[in-house]
Amino acid sequence: MSQRLNADRRGYYGPYGGRFVPETLMAPLEELTRAWRAARCDTAFQQEFHRYLRDLVGRPTPLYFAERLSREIGGARVYLKREDLCHTGAHKINNSLGQILLARRMGKKRVIAETGAGQHGVATAAMAAAFDMECVVYMGQVDMKRQALNVYRMREFGAKVVPVTAGQQTLKEAINEAMRDWVTNVRHTHYILGTAYGAHPYPVMVRNFQRIIGDEARRQILEKEERLPDLLIACVGGGSNAIGLFYPFLSDPAVRMLGVEAGGEGILPGKHAARFQGGSLGVLQGTRSYVLQDPYGQIELTHSVSAGLDYAAVGPEHAWLRDQGRVEYTFATDDQALDAFLRLARLEGIIPALESAHAIAAAIQRAPTLEKDKIILINLSGRGDKDVAQVAEKVTL
Ligand SMILES: *Cc1c(COP(=O)(O)O)cnc(C)c1O
Repeated sequence: MSQRLNADRRGYYGPYGGRFVPETLMAPLEELTRAWRAARCDTAFQQEFHRYLRDLVGRPTPLYFAERLSREIGGARVYLKREDLCHTGAHKINNSLGQILLARRMGKKRVIAETGAGQHGVATAAMAAAFDMECVVYMGQVDMKRQALNVYRMREFGAKVVPVTAGQQTLKEAINEAMRDWVTNVRHTHYILGTAYGAHPYPVMVRNFQRIIGDEARRQILEKEERLPDLLIACVGGGSNAIGLFYPFLSDPAVRMLGVEAGGEGILPGKHAARFQGGSLGVLQGTRSYVLQDPYGQIELTHSVSAGLDYAAVGPEHAWLRDQGRVEYTFATDDQALDAFLRLARLEGIIPALESAHAIAAAIQRAPTLEKDKIILINLSGRGDKDVAQVAEKVTL
């Protein structure tokens, strides 16, 4: 791939990325970067990672032709990359597994994580159980109430879930607490960040653990159709499922890509989480990227029906790919996502995560504008069991 599209050694994608942290975190981030670079070149580590991806996570996940959905919406044919079938229900576990193996290699006995909706917390708690590590998950108190089922799942895996009561009591505050814990306990603790975000090396490292999605999808579509897809679509929270799918196709100029952010109740301050619509250049939680902020740099409130997309900043690699014109970004509103959620359930017998429903909503708009011989490949990042109560509040069936 052209060098222009990749990060430099300090983790900069053009003006985005980097490492904006207190002095006390510089040494742990350097230690992590060195360990990760060594693991990346170690065939034994890579083989171990892929063996657990197969036997524990359940990979490769299928690539499924959504025949009824395609017929109903007309135009391009739609394929679904079934990350919803991963162990614990979403793509998050690819990264949790990779980082647990890295932590073990570094001799750490304890892992910590932040979580919003709870999917990253659940995936990390499950992997900590499997690899016999102490696990602490920081979660905003508001999120703990909204996602009580996932809190219980984490505790079943033996993790300690710590309520965070600062500020809005959601994801942003949970990340702050996790960073505080990491500084204090860094000698025996590894911080498993859940998305392609934060200080270098996290954005590049998480993307590399998630690129398995795109590597498999590329092979699978070539097997089924003997050609590459015309359009990839994925939802974008921090950006890990999207970059995981997109990355292995970046050097294929004929493959177009569309990232879908949370439009919430519309693009007005506080009503959405579409950073490329209402955001501007800023620094938040370790990296420089697009941030929803007021003219004084105060972080704006965000809203989305899907907790996993409800964050004020976006991963730096996405900001760079957008500047380069390589990936296009749009948004879907809460209502469009809810409509897409039910359409996929009724047409395909698949209940998507509300996050993934944003990608389906964008496909419902795009497919009819494309010829019948075109192919759209959507990353179905997770399953919607966790969202059933949320949907029941909004829609009467
Ligand atoms: C967490 C989550 C997302 C959003 O995170 P990314 O890092 O942008 O992928 C999307 N879908 C599901 C199912 C999630 O759990």
